[in-house]
Amino acid sequence: MATNRTFTMIKPDAVAAGHTGAISKMIEEAGFRIVAMKKTKLSAELAGQFYEIHKERPFYGELCKYMSSGPIVPMILEKENAVEDFRKLIGATDPKKAAPGTIRALFAKSIDANAIHGSDSDANAEIEGNFFFSQFERY
Ligand code: UDP
Ligand code: MG
Repeated sequence: MATNRTFTMIKPDAVAAGHTGAISKMIEEAGFRIVAMKKTKLSAELAGQFYEIHKERPFYGELCKYMSSGPIVPMILEKENAVEDFRKLIGATDPKKAAPGTIRALFAKSIDANAIHGSDSDANAEIEGNFFFSQFERY
Protein backbone atom coordinates (compact mmCIF):
# COMPACT_ATOMS: atom_id res chain seq x y z
CA MET A 1 0.00 0.00 0.00
CA ALA A 2 2.52 2.58 -1.21
CA THR A 3 0.00 5.43 -1.05
CA ASN A 4 -0.30 5.03 2.72
CA ARG A 5 3.42 5.03 3.41
CA THR A 6 6.12 7.63 3.74
CA PHE A 7 9.82 7.59 4.49
CA THR A 8 11.67 9.59 7.14
CA MET A 9 15.06 9.74 8.76
CA ILE A 10 16.09 11.43 11.96
CA LYS A 11 19.17 13.40 10.88
CA PRO A 12 22.65 13.43 12.52
CA ASP A 13 22.09 16.59 14.59
CA ALA A 14 18.95 15.24 16.25
CA VAL A 15 20.38 11.74 16.81
CA ALA A 16 23.56 13.22 18.34
CA ALA A 17 21.50 15.51 20.60
CA GLY A 18 19.61 12.49 21.99
CA HIS A 19 16.23 13.31 20.43
CA THR A 20 15.63 9.91 18.77
CA GLY A 21 13.21 8.79 21.50
CA ALA A 22 11.27 12.07 21.72
CA ILE A 23 10.89 12.33 17.94
CA SER A 24 9.81 8.68 17.57
CA LYS A 25 7.25 9.24 20.32
CA MET A 26 5.81 12.26 18.50
CA ILE A 27 5.63 10.23 15.28
CA GLU A 28 3.72 7.37 16.95
CA GLU A 29 1.45 9.71 18.89
CA ALA A 30 0.55 11.44 15.62
CA GLY A 31 -0.87 8.10 14.43
CA PHE A 32 1.97 6.76 12.28
CA ARG A 33 2.83 3.07 12.53
CA ILE A 34 6.55 2.29 12.29
CA VAL A 35 6.90 -0.32 9.53
CA ALA A 36 10.73 -0.34 9.47
CA MET A 37 13.37 1.40 11.59
CA LYS A 38 17.13 1.17 12.20
CA LYS A 39 20.19 3.15 13.21
CA THR A 40 22.84 3.44 10.51
CA LYS A 41 25.41 5.83 9.05
CA LEU A 42 25.79 7.04 5.47
CA SER A 43 29.11 7.51 3.71
CA ALA A 44 29.40 10.83 1.84
CA GLU A 45 28.98 8.85 -1.37
CA LEU A 46 25.72 7.24 -0.23
CA ALA A 47 24.42 10.58 1.07
CA GLY A 48 25.18 11.97 -2.38
CA GLN A 49 23.13 9.18 -3.96
CA PHE A 50 20.22 9.73 -1.60
CA TYR A 51 20.13 13.48 -2.35
CA GLU A 52 20.90 13.09 -6.09
CA ILE A 53 17.82 15.24 -6.94
CA HIS A 54 19.52 18.22 -5.21
CA LYS A 55 22.80 17.81 -7.11
CA GLU A 56 22.54 21.18 -8.84
CA ARG A 57 21.60 23.13 -5.70
CA PRO A 58 24.31 25.25 -4.03
CA PHE A 59 24.06 23.46 -0.68
CA TYR A 60 24.50 19.92 -2.11
CA GLY A 61 28.15 19.48 -1.05
CA GLU A 62 27.51 20.68 2.50
CA LEU A 63 24.35 18.59 2.71
CA CYS A 64 26.23 15.39 1.81
CA LYS A 65 28.97 16.20 4.33
CA TYR A 66 26.41 16.88 7.06
CA MET A 67 24.24 13.84 6.31
CA SER A 68 27.30 11.58 6.58
CA SER A 69 28.65 13.27 9.75
CA GLY A 70 27.01 10.86 12.20
CA PRO A 71 24.41 8.14 12.67
CA ILE A 72 20.86 8.58 11.39
CA VAL A 73 17.61 6.74 12.07
CA PRO A 74 15.66 5.96 8.87
CA MET A 75 12.08 4.69 9.08
CA ILE A 76 9.19 3.67 6.87
CA LEU A 77 5.90 4.94 8.28
CA GLU A 78 2.30 4.01 7.59
CA LYS A 79 -0.82 6.10 7.99
CA GLU A 80 -3.73 7.31 5.92
CA ASN A 81 -2.48 10.26 3.80
CA ALA A 82 1.03 9.55 5.11
CA VAL A 83 3.16 11.82 2.90
CA GLU A 84 1.14 14.99 3.38
CA ASP A 85 0.35 14.44 7.07
CA PHE A 86 3.99 13.73 7.84
CA ARG A 87 5.18 16.91 6.10
CA LYS A 88 2.72 18.77 8.35
CA LEU A 89 4.10 17.05 11.45
CA ILE A 90 7.72 17.99 10.64
CA GLY A 91 7.09 21.61 9.55
CA ALA A 92 8.92 23.87 7.10
CA THR A 93 12.52 23.20 5.98
CA ASP A 94 13.72 26.30 7.84
CA PRO A 95 12.96 25.81 11.56
CA LYS A 96 12.46 29.57 11.93
CA LYS A 97 9.49 29.22 9.59
CA ALA A 98 8.24 25.89 10.96
CA ALA A 99 4.85 26.03 12.69
CA PRO A 100 4.96 25.85 16.51
CA GLY A 101 4.80 22.31 17.86
CA THR A 102 6.22 20.72 14.70
CA ILE A 103 9.26 18.44 14.96
CA ARG A 104 11.53 20.94 13.23
CA ALA A 105 10.27 23.85 15.36
CA LEU A 106 11.05 21.81 18.48
CA PHE A 107 14.30 20.07 17.53
CA ALA A 108 15.98 21.57 14.43
CA LYS A 109 19.10 23.68 14.86
CA SER A 110 19.18 25.40 11.44
CA ILE A 111 17.91 25.15 7.84
CA ASP A 112 20.58 22.57 7.04
CA ALA A 113 20.74 20.67 10.34
CA ASN A 114 16.97 20.47 10.49
CA ALA A 115 16.46 17.30 12.56
CA ILE A 116 14.38 15.20 10.18
CA HIS A 117 13.60 14.26 6.59
CA GLY A 118 10.16 13.60 5.13
CA SER A 119 9.41 12.35 1.61
CA ASP A 120 7.66 14.86 -0.66
CA SER A 121 5.61 12.39 -2.75
CA ASP A 122 4.38 8.79 -2.79
CA ALA A 123 6.85 8.01 -5.58
CA ASN A 124 9.82 9.38 -3.63
CA ALA A 125 8.63 7.66 -0.43
CA GLU A 126 8.86 4.36 -2.28
CA ILE A 127 12.30 5.10 -3.77
CA GLU A 128 13.70 6.38 -0.45
CA GLY A 129 12.31 3.46 1.58
CA ASN A 130 13.88 1.04 -0.90
CA PHE A 131 17.21 2.86 -0.56
CA PHE A 132 17.45 1.79 3.11
CA PHE A 133 15.26 -1.27 3.67
CA SER A 134 14.86 -4.72 2.14
CA GLN A 135 11.51 -6.52 2.09
CA PHE A 136 12.61 -8.53 5.15
CA GLU A 137 12.95 -5.41 7.29
CA ARG A 138 9.32 -4.24 6.93
CA TYR A 139 6.67 -5.36 9.37
N1 UDP B 1 18.89 22.39 2.81
C1 UDP B 1 19.95 23.24 3.08
N2 UDP B 1 19.84 24.56 2.68
C2 UDP B 1 18.75 25.03 2.01
C3 UDP B 1 17.69 24.15 1.75
C4 UDP B 1 17.79 22.83 2.16
O1 UDP B 1 20.94 22.85 3.66
O2 UDP B 1 18.72 26.23 1.67
C5 UDP B 1 18.99 20.97 3.23
C6 UDP B 1 18.08 20.67 4.42
O3 UDP B 1 18.73 19.70 5.25
C7 UDP B 1 16.86 20.08 3.72
C8 UDP B 1 17.52 19.28 2.59
O4 UDP B 1 18.58 20.11 2.16
O5 UDP B 1 16.08 19.29 4.60
C9 UDP B 1 16.61 18.98 1.42
O6 UDP B 1 16.04 20.18 0.94
P1 UDP B 1 14.49 20.28 0.57
O7 UDP B 1 14.29 21.58 -0.14
O8 UDP B 1 14.07 19.04 -0.11
O9 UDP B 1 13.78 20.42 2.00
P2 UDP B 1 12.86 19.39 2.81
O10 UDP B 1 12.06 18.61 1.80
O11 UDP B 1 13.79 18.52 3.62
O12 UDP B 1 12.00 20.24 3.69
MG1 MG C 1 12.67 17.51 0.14
